[in-house]
Amino acid sequence: MFAVELARGLATTLRELVAKPVTVQYPEEKRPVSRRFKGRHELKRYDNGLEKCIGCSLCASACPSDAIFVEAAENTDEERYSPGERYARVYEINMMRCIFCGYCEDACPTEAIVLGDNYELSFYDRRNSIYDKSMLIDPVAEGGKPTPQKVEPGVFTRSIPVMKNPQD
Ligand code: SF4
Ligand code: SF4
Repeated sequence: MFAVELARGLATTLRELVAKPVTVQYPEEKRPVSRRFKGRHELKRYDNGLEKCIGCSLCASACPSDAIFVEAAENTDEERYSPGERYARVYEINMMRCIFCGYCEDACPTEAIVLGDNYELSFYDRRNSIYDKSMLIDPVAEGGKPTPQKVEPGVFTRSIPVMKNPQD
């Protein structure tokens, strides 16, 4: 009986010796995250480069850990950051407080704040845990223009775009 158990143990060892290693060579090699993964936030833009965020602070109100700070300012057609009246002059998220629940994403009326797939959030200093707008905002898409933009008067009066399907 002892010999059988010993043989089974050795067989397990030998099997593992020839098995393909499962070690991932991070950070050179990264595992894909699941579709519903909630990672670092991204502030989105429209294709024309205007910012989706309208500075309404609904995300900050919805946040259970009080991690978001938004300060809004007025848009003009001479200096436009986003459609509608206001944009986020200051947008900050304290990543030390964030619990990645996604409530901010759910609350946003313009789909401006989205939790992406980036999980690399290390920092050595408490101050570096505050991610500001320049760190969160997406780059301008090809063909778009950076903000602020000078636009035709009366074109971007609507803060919230017409959604294809409000239940999307
Ligand atoms: S993911 Fe949750 S905790 Fe983090 S900023 Fe958004 S609402 Fe707040
Ligand atoms: S991210 Fe969305 S909810 Fe938050 S201030 Fe901007 S528009 Fe409002």
